[in-house]
Amino acid sequence: MPFMTPTIVKNFLGKRATRMYPITTREPFADVRGELYIDIKDCNLCGLCAKACPAQCITVDRDKATWECDPYECVYCGVCTDVCSRHCLHQHAAYRAPATEKSVMHEQGEIKKKAKKEEADGSAQPAA
Ligand code: SF4
Ligand code: SF4
Repeated sequence: MPFMTPTIVKNFLGKRATRMYPITTREPFADVRGELYIDIKDCNLCGLCAKACPAQCITVDRDKATWECDPYECVYCGVCTDVCSRHCLHQHAAYRAPATEKSVMHEQGEIKKKAKKEEADGSAQPAA
């Protein structure tokens, strides 16, 4: 016990090693892979990101033209941003803020090909 005394005294009197997160935050490291975001207008809904995601937290529905990601399953590895050929996936240089309720990132894209095909073969539904 006596050999620990200097360490105990140092810890009592020294600067705290922890922060009052989230009240006090620290600057993120350089090149940190933080919160994911998508420029949905550039996405062609190819689904490569969903296939490559090791956490399987991305869902792409080509019929409905939706792109979804569960940020609470995401491990911020950055694989999806690497495989996206349209370069529309990015990561902020900061981590996602704490939340009291879970939510899914939901993005609605355009149903481009389907709309064009329906227009071409005349099967498009008239607007109500
Ligand atoms: S890889 Fe890129 S273009 Fe393809 S679905 Fe994912 S975000 Fe969209
Ligand atoms: S950063 Fe990694 S875990 Fe998160 S959505 Fe992209 S591939 Fe999946």
